Formats: sequence, C-alpha cells, structure tokens
Amino acid sequence: MIGVSYSLQQGSFIIAGLLFILALAGLSKHETSKRGNILGSLGMALALIFTILATVLGTETAGVEVSQAAPSWAIIAIVVAMALGALIGILRALRVEMTGMPELIALFHSFVGLAAVLVGWVVFLEGAPDKLHAGELFVGVFIGAVTFTGSIVAYLKLSGKIKSAPLMLPFHNWLNLGALVVFVAMTVVFVFFPEGAAGWALMIAMTVLALLLGLHLVASIGGGDMPVVVSMLNSYSGWAAAAAGFTLNNDLLIITGALVGSSGAYLSYIMCKAMNRNFISVIAGGFGSDGAVVGEQKDYGTYREITAGETADLLKNSQSVIITPGYGMAVAQAQGAVADLTSKLRAGGTKVRFGIHPVAGRLPGHMNVLLAEAKVPYDIVLEMDEINDDFDDTDVVLVIGANDTVNPAAQEDPHSPIAGMPVLEVWKAAQVVVFKRSMATGYAGVQNPLFFRENSAMLFGDARERVEDIIRAL
Ligand code: NDP
Repeated sequence: MIGVSYSLQQGSFIIAGLLFILALAGLSKHETSKRGNILGSLGMALALIFTILATVLGTETAGVEVSQAAPSWAIIAIVVAMALGALIGILRALRVEMTGMPELIALFHSFVGLAAVLVGWVVFLEGAPDKLHAGELFVGVFIGAVTFTGSIVAYLKLSGKIKSAPLMLPFHNWLNLGALVVFVAMTVVFVFFPEGAAGWALMIAMTVLALLLGLHLVASIGGGDMPVVVSMLNSYSGWAAAAAGFTLNNDLLIITGALVGSSGAYLSYIMCKAMNRNFISVIAGGFGSDGAVVGEQKDYGTYREITAGETADLLKNSQSVIITPGYGMAVAQAQGAVADLTSKLRAGGTKVRFGIHPVAGRLPGHMNVLLAEAKVPYDIVLEMDEINDDFDDTDVVLVIGANDTVNPAAQEDPHSPIAGMPVLEVWKAAQVVVFKRSMATGYAGVQNPLFFRENSAMLFGDARERVEDIIRAL
C-alpha cells in the first residue's frame, strides 16, 4: 500500500501549529474570538486528518517507508474508539448547561491526564527505553497522573458533589514538597535503571505517588482560589500532552501541548495578579478555609428589600447605571433579559455599562461569553480596572447574581478569607440593587456586608424573572 508522503504530513503539522497560534491570538479579544475558534477548529481538523491517514496508510518519503500502516485490527479499534468518544462528547456538549461548562472542562482535562499516563505506560510495557526517553516517559506519566486526579477533584468541587472547603492535612505543604523531592529522586534512578524489577517498582510507585499528589493538591485549595486551579490544571494538561508527544515522537502533539501549557500558565498568572494572590500560595492551598464560620458569626445588622416596580422607578430617574453580573446571572440564564433591559434603558437616554470582575462566574471569561451571546455591545462591557473609579458618579448599580466579586470585606476586613482580593467597588454608587434568591453566601462561603449597607437593597427571586418584571414595569 502507498503511504502518505512524510513531508506532506510534516507540512500539514506545521500549518496546524500556525493555525493554533493564530487561534490563540484571535481568542485574546472579543471581536476576533469567533475567528480564533474557527482557525483552531481548522487546525485540529487538519491535524486529525493527517494523523489518521498516516496511521491507516503509513508514511513514506521518496518511496522509502518511514512508518508502517497499522494492522487492520488496530484500525478497527481506533475507529470504534473515536466513534464512541465522538458520540459521548457530542451528547455531553449538547446537554451541558452554560453553568456546567467549568466542571465539564475540568473533566476533559482529566482525560488528557489519563491519556498521558496510558501512553507512558504502553511505551514502558513495549520495552526498556534509552536514558533520554526514560526520563521523558517518567516525567510525562507523573504530570499526567497529577492532572488526572487533580482534575477529578476540581470536577467534583465545581459541580458541588464534594465540599469546596479546603482539606487541611497537618503539614500539607511539606507533604507536597516531600512528594516532589521523592519524585525527582525516583526520576534519576529510573533514568539509570528503567528495566526489570527496579523499573517496574519505580513506575508503579511514581504513578501512585502522582495520583495521590494530584488529589491532595486540589483538595487543599479553597473556594475562592478555584479559578486559578482550573487554569493551572489546563496548563498541566498541556504539559502532559507535550510529554506524550515526546514519548510518541509526534511533533504536533509537542507543539499543541506546549501552546496549551504555556497559555494556561500565563492565564493562571494573570488571574493571580487580578486577584492579588501569590501563585505559590495558591498552589500551596488554604484560601477561603474558614470563611463560612467568620461570615456567619458576625452580626451585620438588617437588610432592606426592594420590589421590581420600585427598582424600575429608580432606573427611570437615573442618568447612569452600571450592571455587575456574576454566577447567578448564568444560573438564571438572565443574559437575554439583561440585554433587553440594557437596550430599553439606553433607548431612554440612560448611560448603561457593565463591570466585569476577572473571576465572576465559574470560568475565566464566563460573563463575557454570556453577554456576547446576548449581543450586548462590546464597547459598554468594561473590565474591573476600567470601571472601578466610576462607581462614585453612578446613580444605580444592579448586582445581578454576583456576590464574592462585590464583597467590600475583601478590602475592609483583614481577617476575611477573601482579604486582599480586588473587588468591584459597587457600594460607592448612590444606590445598589442586589438580585439574588436568598441571603446565602457565594462560592467562597463568606457573608457579604454590602447587603446590609444603607444604600443597598435586596431584590429577591430568580434574576431572570426579576429583570423581566422590571422591563414590564418600565
Ligand atoms: P458568587 O458565586 O460569589 O455568587 C453568586 C450568587 O448568585 C449567589 O450568592 C447566589 O445567591 C446568586 N444566585 C444563584 N442563582 C441565582 C438565580 N437563579 N437568580 C439570582 N441569583 C442567583 O458569584 P460571583 O460571580 O460574584 O463570584 C464568583 C466566585 O466563584 C468567586 O468566589 C470565584 O473565585 C469563584 N470561581 C470562579 C471561577 C472563574 O473562573 N470565574 C472558577 C471557580 C470558582 P442565592 O443562592 O441567594 O440566589
């Protein structure tokens, strides 16, 4: 059988790599994000087509075989596995609610980690690798296993299946550090003795150690720091894929893995900066630990309620309005109603803008995606830093399903578990209306003194229904 030209395959991989870089560039701005997505999908389609062709037909250069075609049983197994995977993926993607995206992504990261572990183990079982490959393989399995269990814990925490409060084992930082030191020592020994009983014992011990480390790392991270963890696991999954690329000798997997790994690491850094957190202390865990207790025990006084009709009257008499959406807007799927309210107010001459906190919602960019879906113009959607100085001159702020991201305790209470996290300074406006269903806390489990301020009023109920009530009353 004639194989695929090796040069053609390598050329297609370079084009796919370039398309991935253009995709990342496109995804960095609202206006170009759709184009970025399309370019990334094209790159992935190209990569898949040539990988499948090369597997089925083998590759050749100038009539000389470079890689063999896979045996027919393997091709059948690959096709069945891909069809099953695609079916499960499509069904999950069709069913997932926007609010379920973060946990779905965490679950996907766990698959990447598991794949890297399996690739490493298969190559190990095929025969003893040389020193360089032994090191690569060992590191790849380690990163993959940490990503696998870490992502599963992140999935369980984000979907509320386990408590988001951090697990605080005694000496937890030392446990993490000790595990890393043991791993480095094992890697050195494995490079020299990858064969026989020693090789087996090291591979098994390292895999178990990495699985436990992944569990412990993410279990010991508290509510407020989960955004950083999600992007950190994204980065790990990239490095796991790159390591699998080295093991399989697949350049495209190395390029793609490195792009995901480095962009994920950079995103984690940006999020840490936005939240005024130290990257190392986030990884070490413990943030948001006893927040619920601190918040619940304090007496903040009484709060005032407002109706949708009264809120409509407030809005009618306002010149400038800022809307700060949060996770509750996603739960209520209120973005369409919020967009309608915005158009109505703007048509009446009111200046309306949105203030977006970098960790609002449960996914980096969560609010931006929802507002873009509802066709809210980009130029009135501002980042926290761009809008924080403007609350002083604002008549009304509508806090729609946000809680932690508008909590003044972050600035005013040094003992608060979210102390130091920059927040939207909504309380500086003349009047604040908070849309939520109850007095329950937000994700970090801390009470919010904003709700008890004199210039705040609570509009209880589902955010979408309340916004629709206001539109009717306007
Ligand atoms: P929060 O999670 O702090 O609060 C959301 C609020 O929405 C709740 O207080 C809830 O109150 C209210 N709510 C829920 N459903 C509805 C509904 N149907 N209608 C009206 N209100 C509703 O949200 P924020 O966006 O302010 O903060 C995000 C938090 O999530 C931060 O702590 C962040 O660290 C964390 N996080 C962020 C991630 C990211 O990448 N962005 C990832 C993981 C975590 P009630 O129940 O009373 O209605």
